[in-house]
This record gives sequence, structure tokens and C-alpha cells, in this order.
Amino acid sequence: MSSSLIGRTALITGSTSGIGLGIARSFAHSGSNIMLNGFGSPQEISDLCTSFKNEFPHIKVAYHGADMSSADEIKELIHETNTVFGSLDVLINNAGIQHTAPVETFSSEMWDKIMAINLSSNFHTIRHSLPLMKTQEWGRIINISSVHGKVGSVNKSAYVAAKHGVLGLTKVIGLETAREANITCNAVCPGWVRTPLVEAQIEARAKDQDCSIQEATENLLAEKQPSLEFVLPSDLGDMCIFLCSEGARQMTGQSLVIDGGWSSQ
Ligand code: NAD
Repeated sequence: MSSSLIGRTALITGSTSGIGLGIARSFAHSGSNIMLNGFGSPQEISDLCTSFKNEFPHIKVAYHGADMSSADEIKELIHETNTVFGSLDVLINNAGIQHTAPVETFSSEMWDKIMAINLSSNFHTIRHSLPLMKTQEWGRIINISSVHGKVGSVNKSAYVAAKHGVLGLTKVIGLETAREANITCNAVCPGWVRTPLVEAQIEARAKDQDCSIQEATENLLAEKQPSLEFVLPSDLGDMCIFLCSEGARQMTGQSLVIDGGWSSQ
């Protein structure tokens, strides 16, 4: 258990699935109290909270269903986290969606939705969390961008633009907090991680290429990710925990890529 995280509070947006859930589990394992967020049926949310309470009895767990496309609900989420746990130490901006289409047929509604959830939500969570972190004199902000914050891919105009935007926001917050003792802001840029967001893309490929899910999966990796392996949510959890460690105290405004070599090509 990482001693620096015991008793701290971590809010992970979009933690009912995939990467966010993996990161939440890593932080729970390290002794952090956890505020979960994301979509799911009432039964799924109840089961998720119960599973955390059973597996990690030494921590406190709560859930807030704020929609990350709503500035008002985000404000309420931050307020509620501080009220329930008495602090907000680690903010992980993870909630995100994907939509693929050529730019000429990409709907403006979908563009706005991706910008709101994948980029603007980070601005809203950060602006409400920073005053709490400054009062506490400790805080870690970690924005889950993507390898698509570094490079482009066809048919992902909104996603790539939003993820590049997240890296710009990260640099500015890193600079604005540089003189605040113990507050850092960094971004993590994963390559392919096998989550529901990517399963949908694998299924679309299998349909387009008239091949099996197994072949579509192999093609997806071979096209971009030289390691030919998926990054695991737990790999991302480990990286986020490192960013919360004392050794990462002077690391801020940075982006850490974990992509099996994708962006080295
Ligand atoms: P996922 O679909 O498994 O999970 C997304 C999570 O976000 C879910 O909990 C969902 O309920 C939540 N969410 C979606 N819209 C929301 C909203 N409006 N309000 C609140 N919560 C909302 O996806 P994932 O692959 O785990 O993606 C998580 C993050 O990682 C995203 O920001 C994504 O862009 C990024 N990412 C994913 C990959 C990958 O290969 N899977 C690679 C790089 C970056």
C-alpha cells in the first residue's frame, strides 16, 4: 500500500467502466477513499459500490452520477466529494466518449458533445477543485488524454481535437500552480486499452472488413500499436499512483505516453 495515498480522497470521473474503473481500483488498493462517477443502471451502481466496499473494507466509497457535459452537475460533484470525505486530494479527469466519422458527415451535435465531455469537463472540475487543493496545500490533478493528444487518426476529428486540447489545458494548469507547494497537474496518454469504448471500434471493424472479432482485434493492434498488446487499466492505475508519489513532486504540466510504441513511429 502506498503510504502517501492512505486516507486521501480520489475522485475519478467516468469510473463505472474501463480505464476509470481500473484506476479507481488501483487507488482503493493504495488506501484512498474513492468518489466514483459515471453512468450505469441503479442496480449496476449499487453492485459496483458493494463490490468496492467488500474488496476494500478499509476505505470509504461514494458515488455521484454527475453528467460530465453539465457544468452545474460538475460543480455539485466537487462540492459533494468535499462534503462526504472532507477533502479532495486527487482529481482524475477520465470520463470520455468516442465517435468516428469523416469530418464532412460528423454532426455538429456530436462535436459539441465530445468537446463538452472530453475537454470542457476537465476545465470545470479543475476550476472547482483547485481552491480546495490550495487550502489543503496538497493536490494531484491527472487528465486522461490519449495518444490521440499527440497524433491524429482519420475519422476522429472531435476526439483528437479534444485530446490535444487536454494537453494544452494541462500545461497551463501546471504553470498556474507551479508555485503552489505540492500541487501538480499532468496528463496520461494511453494507446489502445481494451474497454467498451474500444470494443465498439473492434466490432465496427469486424463488420466493415467482414472478418471475425479476433481478426479485427489483431488488425487494430497491428495497424497502430507495435507491441501488439493492449495497455491494461491497471498499468494506467500504476502510472497515476506514481504521479501522486513524493518522487513526482516536481513533475508538472507534462504528458506521459503509454502506448506500446504507437507514437514513436
Ligand atoms: P469506457 O466507455 O469504458 O468508459 C467511459 C466512462 O465514462 C464510463 O464510466 C462512462 O459511464 C463515463 N461517461 C461517459 N460519458 C459520461 C458523462 N457524460 N458523464 C459522466 N460519465 C460519463 O471508456 P474507456 O476506454 O475506459 O475511456 C476512459 C477514458 O480513457 C476516456 O477519456 C478515453 O478517451 C480515454 N482513452 C481510452 C483509450 C482506450 O483505448 N480505451 C485510449 C486512450 C484514451
